[in-house]
Amino acid sequence: MKPTQFAYDRPETVDEALELLDEHHDAELLAGNQSLGIIMANRFASPERLVDINRLDGLAFVDISDDEIEIGAMTRHRTLERHDDLRSVLELVPESAEQIAGPAVRNRGTMGGSIAEADPAGNYPAVLAALGGELHVASVDGERTIPADDYFVGYMFTDLEEHELITSVSFPREPFPQERTGSAFVELKRGSQTWPTVSAATAVRVDDPSRETPLVEESRLAVGNAAGIPLRIDDALAELAGEPLSEDALDSVAEAVREAADPTDEMHADREYKSEMAGEYAIRSLRKSYERACGN
Ligand SMILES: Cc1cc2nc3c(=O)[nH]c(=O)nc-3n(C[C@H](O)[C@H](O)[C@H](O)COP(=O)(O)OP(=O)(O)OC[C@H]3O[C@@H](n4cnc5c(N)ncnc54)[C@H](O)[C@@H]3O)c2cc1C
Repeated sequence: MKPTQFAYDRPETVDEALELLDEHHDAELLAGNQSLGIIMANRFASPERLVDINRLDGLAFVDISDDEIEIGAMTRHRTLERHDDLRSVLELVPESAEQIAGPAVRNRGTMGGSIAEADPAGNYPAVLAALGGELHVASVDGERTIPADDYFVGYMFTDLEEHELITSVSFPREPFPQERTGSAFVELKRGSQTWPTVSAATAVRVDDPSRETPLVEESRLAVGNAAGIPLRIDDALAELAGEPLSEDALDSVAEAVREAADPTDEMHADREYKSEMAGEYAIRSLRKSYERACGN
């Protein structure tokens, strides 16, 4: 099948793009086109106008400051995957990027497109939720910041308004000091080109990696594809604080994840299997983060 006919604009500046979005309420932004093209070709969506944002300056960047990491919306998965500085300060982000599909998708797909899509199986939504990140968005009305907690509303439903463009996302660095934090993204998938059946994004900060058995100070977890939005179990995680990360503690986390999970049935994985795997991958990811935080 082919998409229905559509008008096409390729603005040169963010302001021009925002004007177009304001003028044409039926317009869709075109970023890496690794999701939209498929959706349009199958006629699940037939926007009358595409606003191509590939020529906009200033939306593809990675800024690492003492306080935060900011990533421009048009930053490609491939750039994040290969960003050594980013990997050294917060491994979770490049590790989530490198597990998206194959090189063809990663060469074109963008951070902003993925966050806008808010697919519950998406890698970055889980990362954003786990790290307590923020989205920075712009429209003709001005700019605003949306905390991840407020952004994901329901199954592929977000707080982003039709005339708004995501300009960047940011992650605070203060809770994740490089020398005492480990982070990880692990996922279960059937093949390299498929979306994950479940995934888990985690970060763990310990008190002192030089101790024989470091104690967990804080841990973060968001499970992908286990519910309509990235699944968090903050109360259960709070109980890990002040102790080494034991197998008993991990079992309790898995139990909390299984109880909170509310996944949809898929052809290859029913609800029960996905809930079970959500618990298992939460454990694997937390264990990996803890080991990394301990310097292993
Ligand atoms: C075979 C295959 C496997 C994949 N596997 C995975 C996977 O395992 N994990 C994963 O996370 N993703 C996966 N993806 C999706 C991939 O990551 C896409 O790149 C991404 O979801 C969409 O990004 P994009 O830049 O291609 O956006 P586009 O396809 O161009 O746009 C997607 C939507 O986002 C909107 N949008 C784009 N940019 C912005 C912006 N800056 N502000 C507001 N709205 C915007 C568009 O209007 C559109 O509605 C896969 C895709 C394919 C084709």
